[in-house]
Amino acid sequence: MTVNDPFKTRVRARMSATGENYMTAARALRAIEAQGQLSASRLQAELAEVFRVAGWPVEVEPNPEAGGLRLYAGPATLQVGRAAQSHRARRGDEHPDDPSVFDLDSPLEVALWAPLTADVVDHLGRVAGIDGEILPSGLSALDLLKQVDTAVAAARARDLADTPTDDECMVCGDAYHSSALLPSTSSKEIMVCPCCVFDGDLLNPYPARLALHLDRTRDEDLALPAGWAAVGTLVACLAGPGFGDRLRRMWWDNGATFLPYTHWNTPSDMWIWLPPADLRPPVLAGFGCGARLGSIIAHFDHVHPNLRETYRALERDELVVEEYADDEPYTWLVPEETLERVWPAAVAFAIALTTQQRERPNHRDPWHVLYSFESVGDWLQALDSDLESFHVQEVLGTGIHLVRDLLDNDV
Ligand SMILES: [Zn+2]
Repeated sequence: MTVNDPFKTRVRARMSATGENYMTAARALRAIEAQGQLSASRLQAELAEVFRVAGWPVEVEPNPEAGGLRLYAGPATLQVGRAAQSHRARRGDEHPDDPSVFDLDSPLEVALWAPLTADVVDHLGRVAGIDGEILPSGLSALDLLKQVDTAVAAARARDLADTPTDDECMVCGDAYHSSALLPSTSSKEIMVCPCCVFDGDLLNPYPARLALHLDRTRDEDLALPAGWAAVGTLVACLAGPGFGDRLRRMWWDNGATFLPYTHWNTPSDMWIWLPPADLRPPVLAGFGCGARLGSIIAHFDHVHPNLRETYRALERDELVVEEYADDEPYTWLVPEETLERVWPAAVAFAIALTTQQRERPNHRDPWHVLYSFESVGDWLQALDSDLESFHVQEVLGTGIHLVRDLLDNDV
């Protein structure tokens, strides 16, 4: 046996990652390599495809960076590169499939970061998330997806468990770490939890600053309370089309040269954390540790095709009462276009706060959010929105109840 045979080395790496025996691992590896997976471009494209199919938001970086090809999947960054780099790779923009720079017989390796900017965090006393972990080589794109999902879920669980609760929301008093509380109004001093952003006690909403905080914390923190994604979704839904473009101008006018994430223009692109695998409702079992909101809604519509009709039935029970029956009985009902626009936010709150509840079992449950949408009218004004506050609150109240109960009873 040749100890340093590169193929056997890759087979052994695959065996330790998958638990397969030598014959099975060798056969699988030959099949993968026969398909040309040793092309970094091909592996990058396959990874993008399997992550998209699994419901992750994906962006592919077209130009090589640090001698590798990157893609961004939810909170994770993956970089496909060569394990043994030639000394000629100096600038960083060399392509890993360029034979004049890299030894193309050397195996590909995939490095993983999560979140985008992994750094030492004081309250953890270590690097938060995952900092450039090299995934086992010799795996198919689908196996790599499973590795990434497992690693990101474990890193979030570890960071959540290690984060102390040293502060409290200034509206509801619930305990959080100070980094989990954000300013949502013109006052930088008032720090709130994701359940209280739209509470009636808060005046002067400041959407542009909250959006900036949400994008920046997403870049830096893998353990942000899940509910913040729902807050971002609602702000984007209330603001309507083109909000991302407006945000970019507002940020740049105020000296912040960040580009807003695409979810401000397209709320269905929002990354939603899902409950840990052992606590995940069966209807979400096909997803990983998180997913793109649009993928979740499409799946819900497939599994529960009558969900909107059920919502309308509940709404009629609530809003059509005798005294209105003779005179335009349905004038209180939410217009179809408002329902379509705000529905993603109702789903986002139901799912994200179910996640938050199951991740924080020793804390008060987050459903007091249902009584904390009184300032939606102020937000609509601040966002220059054409929606009616009453209609928005109706979709949120009834929609969150409906989807939450569906998740709770989903056994
Ligand atoms: Zn609160």
